[in-house]
Amino acid sequence: PRLANQIAAGEVVERPASVAKELIENAIDAGSRRIEVDIEAGGARLVRVRDDGIGIGEEDLPLALSRHATSKIATLDDLEGVSSLGFRGEALASISSVSRLELISNALEEPTGGWRVTAEGRSMESRVSPAPHPRGTTVNVRDLFFNTPARRKFLRTEKTEFGHLEETFRRQALSRFDIGWILRHNQKVVQQLSPGTDTLARERRISALLGKGFIEHARYIEREVGALRLSGWVGLPTHSRAQADQQYFFVNGRVVRDRLVAHAVRQAYRDVMFHGRQPVFVLYLDLDPDVVDVNVHPTKHEVRFRDGRMVHDFLFSSLHHALADARP
Ligand code: ADP
Ligand code: MG
Repeated sequence: PRLANQIAAGEVVERPASVAKELIENAIDAGSRRIEVDIEAGGARLVRVRDDGIGIGEEDLPLALSRHATSKIATLDDLEGVSSLGFRGEALASISSVSRLELISNALEEPTGGWRVTAEGRSMESRVSPAPHPRGTTVNVRDLFFNTPARRKFLRTEKTEFGHLEETFRRQALSRFDIGWILRHNQKVVQQLSPGTDTLARERRISALLGKGFIEHARYIEREVGALRLSGWVGLPTHSRAQADQQYFFVNGRVVRDRLVAHAVRQAYRDVMFHGRQPVFVLYLDLDPDVVDVNVHPTKHEVRFRDGRMVHDFLFSSLHHALADARP
């Protein structure tokens, strides 16, 4: 099974940023209010995610590292309605097969409680030992790909890998304003974001993550038609220093890179003649989970809408309206 894990790891674990993504999603699923991400050496030496969520009980701790044991899916049909971020029960198993992983958790309120389990490459130490930890979970992933040198070689410079990690962090932090976040690299605080969901708090977070100019040169939109709701910020052409890659689209809270969405946005911008300027946006589309499949691919960046035409038209008309209004 450890070999199967290593193979599966290729799907899930491409680089330190993909490790962080999985660990952060687990922390979100655990209902955390505060998530800390510590990185060393671009993540090659350490990716640590610490949360204050529900934690994992002593008896479940070894299970969390075994493949599929924890999968929440009974049948394939269940895939369609799945609402938590995790759904395959294989991320931790895959990550531990290509790293030195330590899982420390406490599911109880007593601060002295807590248990620890480790796995190193193909061998898993299934013994659980006591380890004090406040309620919540810490996952330490050290020496990624230490036992798969070919893959280790594909890691880029510390700066490049940390760039990917920052991007992952940015997306997650933009998806949950109600959670407080910290990102550190080599012990230095890179981002510290307090929780808050009112407009001011959200704009403050966006400025911290995307730069001051973003909000200044953006228009806030909010529109609801039937069961579709769109809200967020669209950049205006006055933002001359906008970075072309600042395009964030969330469907029911998950970041998505989808062709239908991209097309609708591009059309809307083109229509109001933004003179070849790259559109920038942070947009949130919420709709009935029954009419969207988010599990098209394991990395889950794609979606499939039951009625793509309707979603496309809704996006196009909402953005077109907001942008046409702002035409210089
Ligand atoms: P999945 O998230 O798909 O279920 P993972 O391998 O990512 O699979 O995690 C396995 C299980 O371990 C989860 O289902 C969850 O029960 C538990 N788990 C992992 N991380 C955490 C965490 N930070 N807090 C609480 N439980 C966790
Ligand atoms: Mg998971």
